[in-house]
Amino acid sequence: MDPKPTLVNLMNLDRQGLEAYFESLGEKRFRAHQLMKWVYHHGVTDFAQMTDFGKKLRVKLEGTAEVRPPPVLFQKVSTDGTTKWLIGVDAGNAVEAVYIPEPTRGTLCVSSQVGCTLNCTFCSTATQGFNRNLSTAEIIGQVWQAARALGHDAKDNRRLTNVVMMGMGEPLANFDAVVPAMNLMRDDYAFGLANKRVTLSTAGLVPMIDKLSEACDVSLAVSLHAPNDELREKLVPLNKKYPIAELMAACQRYLVERPRASITFEYTLIKGMNDQAEHAKALVKLLRRLPSKLNLIPFNPFPGTRFERPDEETIRRFQTIVMEAGLIATVRRTRGDDIDAACGQLKGNVADRTRRSAMLRPAPATTIASSATGVPA
Ligand code: SAH
Repeated sequence: MDPKPTLVNLMNLDRQGLEAYFESLGEKRFRAHQLMKWVYHHGVTDFAQMTDFGKKLRVKLEGTAEVRPPPVLFQKVSTDGTTKWLIGVDAGNAVEAVYIPEPTRGTLCVSSQVGCTLNCTFCSTATQGFNRNLSTAEIIGQVWQAARALGHDAKDNRRLTNVVMMGMGEPLANFDAVVPAMNLMRDDYAFGLANKRVTLSTAGLVPMIDKLSEACDVSLAVSLHAPNDELREKLVPLNKKYPIAELMAACQRYLVERPRASITFEYTLIKGMNDQAEHAKALVKLLRRLPSKLNLIPFNPFPGTRFERPDEETIRRFQTIVMEAGLIATVRRTRGDDIDAACGQLKGNVADRTRRSAMLRPAPATTIASSATGVPA
């Protein structure tokens, strides 16, 4: 008996990939555009319902391909309207996507990996270790699921206006899957968002910033968190490989190609670590000559962390110093923390393949020992 052929998941392909796929079936390229409209405008995944495809083409597609978004395992809605979805990606793994509604826009925060390898010391995703990169289908599938759950419609009900690659994982470490997904976010046959409304956030993978600059026109955000290498190394270990001067030079290069753009620098304010006036002043020196916006994120706590959020006064003082020196700086209001959906709180389920999560968990031996001796834990 012939084994069932593996089906190509068409959500893994952007417009270019789909055009090539239809051509390989001996079909015209415009079939790709029709398919995209069914999938991304109408939410239809069943070829049988794609009524402008003839019977012959539908049968051909059914034998070779599928449109399979990753399933939503559950949805949680915060008292402030922030919504979080847990999206299953395989038996042991799930990632999170978060929707943040604001009066003039609706932003979806999307994950790019199951866990993360970068090990930033103040991020909860880091405590879970890493399993694997997400596929394009699993990345654009988060947008697809959110759009459906929100009743998003690009014409009559624009709930989704921005996407930020700021969920679990380092998007530039999963470049080959992330770029086609961002192409679909910006393609008029898919989600049709303006280039500047799709933002990729990186902890600073310098060579990949240059690669991104060539491949894709999106907004860039950089997780800075410290104005000098000594401090940044403690928060973002990747800084040992790509120190601040190299990172800033890559940002400059990114902007040379985009004279009207600016780069967003994320700066998580952590009590007693990077929140003092001296840090604010050093930050001003670093960013002064670059078209940039500073996004100050008060630290969001998670179980087991040794870090704390600074008080309101310290946050305001920091913001005042950088603003009086001419930087544009906003404080990101904490959204969705009652459902653990705030920055740095995303966890999903990670079947850890590194040993990090085991090292960080409290030693299980004590629990076993106490129950074995009958002493209640
Ligand atoms: N790996 C990418 C994408 C993650 S974006 C990057 O580092 O940019 C998530 C943002 O939230 C990053 O700026 C991250 O540094 C920040 N963050 C992580 N943990 C946080 C926490 N506990 N509180 C506030 N912000 C946090």
